This record gives sequence, C-alpha cells and structure tokens, in this order.
Amino acid sequence: MTAIAGEHRTLAVERTADGFVVLSFLVPDHRHNVITPRVVEELSAVLDELAAAGPPGVVLRSARPGSFFAGADLGRLAEIRGLGEAAIIEACDRGRGLFARLAESFPTAAVIDGACLGGGLELALACDLRIATPEPHTQLGLPEVKLGLLPGWGGTVRLPRLIGVGPAIELAASGESVDAALAVRLGLVDACVPAEMAVESARRLLAARTADGAVARRRAVMAAPVAIDPAERDFLESTTAAVILGRTGGHYPAPPAILQTILAGASVDAAAAARIESQTFARLAATPVAGNLLRVFTIGDRNRRDSGIGDAAAAASAPVVSKPTVVGAGIMGSGIAARHLRSGFPLMLVDIDPAALVAAVPTIVDEAAWDRGSGRADPAVALGHAARLRSATTLAAIAGADLVIESVTERPDVKQRVLAEIEQVAGPEAVIATNTSTNPVGRLAAGLTDPSRFCGMHFFNPVRRMMLVEVVRGPATSDRTVAAVVAHAKRLGKVPVVVNDSPGFLVNRILMPYLHEAGELLREGVPAGRIDRVARGFGMPLGPIELYDMVGLDTAFYAGLVLSAAFGDRIEASPVIPALVKAGRLGRKSGAGFYRHSEAGQHARVVAADEKAAEIIARYAHPPRESSDRTIVDRLFLPMLLEALRVLDERLVRDAADVDLGVIHALGFPAFRGGLLAWGDSLGAAEVIRRLEPLADLGPRMRPVDRLLAHAASGRPFTE
Ligand code: NAD
Repeated sequence: MTAIAGEHRTLAVERTADGFVVLSFLVPDHRHNVITPRVVEELSAVLDELAAAGPPGVVLRSARPGSFFAGADLGRLAEIRGLGEAAIIEACDRGRGLFARLAESFPTAAVIDGACLGGGLELALACDLRIATPEPHTQLGLPEVKLGLLPGWGGTVRLPRLIGVGPAIELAASGESVDAALAVRLGLVDACVPAEMAVESARRLLAARTADGAVARRRAVMAAPVAIDPAERDFLESTTAAVILGRTGGHYPAPPAILQTILAGASVDAAAAARIESQTFARLAATPVAGNLLRVFTIGDRNRRDSGIGDAAAAASAPVVSKPTVVGAGIMGSGIAARHLRSGFPLMLVDIDPAALVAAVPTIVDEAAWDRGSGRADPAVALGHAARLRSATTLAAIAGADLVIESVTERPDVKQRVLAEIEQVAGPEAVIATNTSTNPVGRLAAGLTDPSRFCGMHFFNPVRRMMLVEVVRGPATSDRTVAAVVAHAKRLGKVPVVVNDSPGFLVNRILMPYLHEAGELLREGVPAGRIDRVARGFGMPLGPIELYDMVGLDTAFYAGLVLSAAFGDRIEASPVIPALVKAGRLGRKSGAGFYRHSEAGQHARVVAADEKAAEIIARYAHPPRESSDRTIVDRLFLPMLLEALRVLDERLVRDAADVDLGVIHALGFPAFRGGLLAWGDSLGAAEVIRRLEPLADLGPRMRPVDRLLAHAASGRPFTE
C-alpha cells in the first residue's frame, strides 16, 4: 500500500494496488480512539481530497489495537452542554453532515476490531458495510442513554433502517453492547472475520456488493421511511414503554425519548428523521439528569486512572496479587470469593464451620458462573470455577497466600484474634485486609506485629451488584499496601475509593442516619412498606427496611454498637434491632426480620409485613407525627447529607466526588441525581436549611452543621 494524502494527526491514508483507499485512525493523547473536533476536521478534508480521485471503495479501520472508536470526546460534550440548544443542534448537524457525506460518496466499509461505541458505531453505520472481528474486545453499542442522551449523529435514523425498529430501540434504549457474533445475527455487521484478514475481506466484499448492486439497494433503504405495520407499531410502542418504565421508574428521560424518536423517525424519510434526532438530543442534553450522569461518568473516569496513592512510582512497584484467600464463608465471604473466580483468580476459602463451607461452595460456583443472557449458571464455566476453588476449616491453609481478606463475624474480639492468627500463618510479604463494616482498622490492628501491611477492603452487599470497595487506610497502613489493594480491587472490576480510618468509614457512616431514621419512623407507626416505597420512589434500589433485612439484623446490631459509641451525640442505637435479634429474627438469612420472607437465605423474597415484628416495634412506640411522603424523603435523606458534610469536614475522603461515587456504587444512590451531594446542590444549601426547620424538635441529628451554614452564606455548591 502507498500513502497518498497530506499529513494528518489522527488518520493515515493509503491506497492499495487496485485503487482502494484504506483510512487508518489513531487519535493521539487518548487511551481509546474518540471522535474529537480534529477527527471530524481531518476526515472531512480527506473526503474532499478523495472526491476528486473517486476511488472504487474506501475501508475505514483503526490503527489502535482493541479500539475502533469508543465514542465522542466527552470533554467536548460537557462544553457543548453549556452552550445552549442552538449550539448543540449545530454540533450534532456538523457531525451528522460529515457522516452523511461519507454515506453518500464512494462505497465504504468499516473494519471493526475493538470497542465500537456511540459515535464510533454511528460512523460505522454511515458506511455501506461493516466487518467485525470475533475477538472478545470487539463490542458494538450505543451507550449514550447511560449519559442521559441519545445517539446524535444519525444512530437513531440508520440503526432501525438496518436492523429493524424493535431491535434498534432495544439496543439504543438499553445502552448495552453486543459482540460480533450477536451483531451478525442482528444484521448490524455483514461478516465476522479474524483481524489479520479483515481489511482484505472488507475490500473484496465491498467490490462484490458494489458490482451486484447490493450497496445501491441498501442506500435506497437507508434513505426511505421504514415500512412498519401500524398495529405492530402500536404494540411495540406500548410494550416497550411499559418495559422502560419498569426499568427506569420514570426517573430517566432518555429511554422513552429514544423510543419516541426512533418511532417518529421511522415513519418519515432519513433527512426528516435526522431533524427529529437533533432536536431531541438538544432537549435531553439540557436536562439536569444528563448533567448528573455526565458528572458521574467523569468522576468514575478519574477513579479508573487513580492508583489510590500520590506516588506513581510507588504505585507501579506495589505487589500484584495472584494467590488470594478469603477467611469467613458467610454472606460476604461467599460473594467476595465468587467475584474472584469470575475475574479469573484461583481462590482458597477458609471457615471454622464446615457446615458454612458446605453451604457456601455451590452458591459461590453458581454465582461465579452466572450467565446474564440465559438467566442461569453455565455448567461448563461452573466446572472450571469449581476446579479453582479450594476450601479448608483451618487457617494453616492460607500459607503461601499473597492477599488474605478476613470476612468473619463482625465482633472486634473475634476479628482481632483471627487477624493475629492470620499474621502468624501468612508469609511476611502477604497483604492482610479486613472486610469489617464499621470497626476502625487501627483498633483491629492492635494485635498485629506489622500493621503496615494491613488495611480495610470493604465490599458491599450484594457483592455481585455493588461496585464500591472502600480501601481503608489505618494509622500504620503503608502506601504499598493501599496501592496493592486498590489495584487488586480494580482487577476484580470494582470501584475502589481510599478512605481514612474512622468508625463506619465513608458509606456506613452516611448510611447510619438513613437506617436509624427509618427505624424511628417505624416507631411512630409509619408502615414499613410505605417507608420502603417512598425510598424507592426517590430512586433507591431498596428501601431502608428491606435493606436492614438483607444486611442481616445481627450484623446491623454489631455495626450499630460501634457507630453509636462513636456518634451517640446524634444517633442512639435503636432498641428495636436487638429485640428482633433476640426473637431470632435476623432478616433474610433466617427467613424473617422486619418482614416475613419466602425462605431463609440470600435468595429469599419479601412476602409480607409481619405481625410479630409489629408487636416488637410497638413495645418501643413513639407518638405519631406528620408524615407526608415529602417529609419521609426529608427525614431519610437530609440527615445523610448532613453526615456527608461532616465526613468532608473530617477529610475522610478527598472530596465531594469520592462521596458521590461511594454512595452510588455502594448503596445504589440514584445516579440520575448525581449522588448525595449533587442532590443537595439541586436543592441548594438555603433550601436544605429551610426543610430542616420543621424537623428541629427531633434533636441534634436534624441540626444544620457549620459547613451547611457556610455553603448557604457563600452560595457555593457542595460539589465544587
Ligand atoms: P456471616 O455471619 O454471614 O458470616 C460470617 C462467617 O464467618 C461465618 O460463616 C462463620 O462461620 C465464620 N467465622 C466466624 N469465626 C471464624 C473464624 N474464627 N475463622 C473462620 N471463620 C469464622 O457474616 P457476613 O454478613 O458475611 O459478614 C462478614 C463480615 O463482612 C463482617 O465483618 C461484616 O461486618 C462485613 N460486612 C457485612 C455486610 C453485610 O451486608 N452483611 C456488608 C459489608 C461487610
């Protein structure tokens, strides 16, 4: 091949012996190829240059391994949001105009090896053919919905014309990506070919499809309205709208907007459909939800690049874990073990109780082999996991481990004893971590000879769903230990946030007032089901009472002891929890807690509110108070916000972004609200103070903290 055009920074232009042109993209200064203004400018210039030459075909590919185009440049998107509707429409039109020129000029094929997402897929859709490689890193999707947006460069126009209206809505409204095999079945790509043959195959297929008229016929289909029967359209609209409402709770405007845009765009020609797309994009981009989701993405991206310690050289030399061990095979130990297997690690699991191991092992293997697509464990994968999971009832089995994660019962005396024993058996280089929910790491380290290699590695329940891991730095924890555990958490696919040592760390500290307030509402006679419904209506995945039952009331009791000892000035431990525990009501694990459950165990469902629990709560009744849904929201979430402001004052984490990342990925705090502090900003400090006033008689827990008063005085947002 010979290079034919002038110098470009983001793409190389070469011609094959038979006149075909190959455009190879490599966008500098980014980890993935992303569509920057420079890419748009240079591709446009190349199309001008090629127009004169009129090549028989053009193949677009990436010169960056594993990344076709990962999407638009999000920094640019954040800038454009601030410019107003007209500027947003203009930016969409510019990108779409370029892709339209590509679609209408010489025959084109995209060779897709690696991520082909968002604007990257829209670029590929503007080509006549798409050839994808079968590698697992090849993923195609339109994730804009996850940022509260819709594809704005022709995706909602071309996709339904290519693969049909129903599948197009599903792909764009879910934001999920598909691999090459599924993309072929959907008709999204024309062939799946190994990477080393893909460019040559693309060239041949393009020549053949141009010669037999298939390219011209497809272009005609892409320009016209989509033929869809009105009854089929109505059915699709009503069923999909119901599914979307179920998935989003009505909190996310983008999925229903995608449904309506695709349906409206399908019934008109492509040019008119493009105008509908631009207008909807501009409307969505201006919503607070899009702003919040974009911020959540940005702070997540900062986290992905962060080693957890300031010193990059020290982070690079931190030990890499290859022989992890978990001690304690309860709810949490099992989830942590399954996560390890799923991420490809072998695992040793230790529990003093053989019955606990017998119960845990099949659950762990099933969870690790769970296949979301089929909704069951894959037997072949499960066999592989079973071979890599070993278990033992004595700590002698941890010899040789390079990371030991302790996850035994939440009792400081038990933990201290187990940790001291772990230190004796594990080699001197091994990192030791505790999954304690509340006990300060410094206190648990008291019996250790070398506390520098000890830290918290706090997972959240259920481990398979909650992404956060708090990496707790005790007073003696070394940078080496923190960096090793942060890197290991990332290898497990988790979001690690480094937290300074304090009772309850970041998340349980903030969760404490929420759970406590729910207990007080119950004592005032507000039904559990109503409290949970209001919390879910706010956007939480579970209400606080359901959460109590899931976490386990015994665990909550021990956690409550630690937290009330530390923060008893505002939160007293509720007498209801020990009373329920005493009655054998431990929550889901025992089949009954605040609610009655379908069975004992982690897969139990809530069946009903329970008379016996109501009798126990009644023993500790408070006089009833006004309890509108708004008041319940204020009582549950404003004390969390106050606690988050105290956490920032005490510098437990770096900043508001860490707090918001923490509550989103550990508690499922709604991302559409941007996190707890972003929610506080949506109210404003002055409004928060106004809403706290009628709750003042509840005591110090509802009293504005100094930091809140300072924000009200200065008008500065909490998230600044
Ligand atoms: P669990 O009661 O389900 O399991 C604890 C396990 O530890 C039991 O199987 C028990 O046999 C075992 N064990 C007790 N002493 C042992 C010893 N000396 N050696 C080996 N094994 C021993 O408890 P869990 O809910 O899994 O909690 C475990 C830890 O995780 C606690 O520190 C808890 O605070 C923390 N945690 C719990 C949650 C939650 O939601 N349950 C969330 C995050 C963290």
